[in-house]
Amino acid sequence: MQTVTVLGATGSIGCNTLDVICRHPEKYRVFAITGNAQLDLLMEQAQKCAPRYVVVADEGQYQNACDLAQQRGVDAEILCGARALEEVASAPEVDAVMAAIVGAAGLLPTLAAVKAGKRVLLANKEALVMSGQLFIDAANQSGAHILPIDSEHNAIFQCLPADYRYGDLAASGIRKILLTGSGGPFRARPIDTFEGITIEEASTHPNWSMGRKITIDSATMMNKGLEFIEACWLFGAGADDIDVVIHPQSIIHSMVQYVDGSVIAQMGNPDMRTPIAYGLAHPARIDAGVKPLDFSDISNFSFETPCYVRYPNLKLAIEACREGQCATTRLNAANEVAVACFLEGKIGFNDIALVNEATLNAMPVVNVNSIQQILEQDALARTKANDIIRGKFQC
Ligand code: NAD
Ligand code: MG
Repeated sequence: MQTVTVLGATGSIGCNTLDVICRHPEKYRVFAITGNAQLDLLMEQAQKCAPRYVVVADEGQYQNACDLAQQRGVDAEILCGARALEEVASAPEVDAVMAAIVGAAGLLPTLAAVKAGKRVLLANKEALVMSGQLFIDAANQSGAHILPIDSEHNAIFQCLPADYRYGDLAASGIRKILLTGSGGPFRARPIDTFEGITIEEASTHPNWSMGRKITIDSATMMNKGLEFIEACWLFGAGADDIDVVIHPQSIIHSMVQYVDGSVIAQMGNPDMRTPIAYGLAHPARIDAGVKPLDFSDISNFSFETPCYVRYPNLKLAIEACREGQCATTRLNAANEVAVACFLEGKIGFNDIALVNEATLNAMPVVNVNSIQQILEQDALARTKANDIIRGKFQC
């Protein structure tokens, strides 16, 4: 029996995680679930999976959460605030932590799980993009086992040899890691019409159903850029070891190409319950409730090279990856600001990449060697991105 904390339980990954867990009550027990403010859903989840703790990140919602828990007969203890997120991620009773908070807000609770040596199911890619080496060092020190949940990284993990040694691609005969992406909803749209892309158009992904921020990141392909950086850290790869390949059908979730000419791919229907189940049960396999792939249903299986004019955010992220930690932390922060402003209708779709680039260009590179410095750079880049948006776009 594994005891699991689900950080970000009310999100898309969180809901899918609880779905898989509920299919295997003999294997998994829920210790804590957390959400930012969606109290109804959080209490509904608490009724179903009977956790010991329910954590509401937003402290202002604490009383409402307690009242609602009482009305619904929820037995769990209600906690609130950032510190409580870290506590339920690192409590001694917990074996595994699903890190599924979106964005920089997930950094400290995810790191708390890593430092406590948990089995960490990492969906929150922003945490790793922000903290890179410090995250990996913390895992090495504590013995935490990081299992990638992002479907591409989970696929790569499955395609690597079982005895793969972190960072040593050559010893395993690996030529390239091939990171696939669908290309999002605007893969074939004329670039000169991008200016008019609406929030609704950018919020509709052709293959995956996900949270709001990652859906916009998928439309700009910043998501693939963040995943590029994530892959470097997860597997100890360099930027030259990874190629991005567009595969619009999202059936292959990524591949590893070997020096003998072999390419090993992981395939499946685009359903996040597959990597979640893999992360929960590894090295075993459990039923995830996912429809089996039926090849007679697949009429087309195609591949393209990404064009940086169409996807300037992808280029920015790869350049930031080559530049180092300061650049990737700032890029992540600027992008969170720009995406939020796009979703509020304050800037246009093309402006997301412009804000990201202008933020990076406006700030001289500094060394970042501690979480404190990472958080400082994150805050500075957010301020800079907001200034740029106010100045340039007059809102
Ligand atoms: P989502 O927006 O659906 O859910 C986010 C969760 O984080 C919610 O539970 C929300 O309450 C919580 N949250 C938001 N702000 C918070 C804050 N300030 N403090 C504490 N909690 C907060 O997002 P999602 O699509 O489930 O994605 C979660 C993470 O997983 C992201 O990092 C995303 O990149 C990654 N991911 C998602 C998918 C997917 O299919 N959805 C696939 C791969 C990776
Ligand atoms: Mg992904």
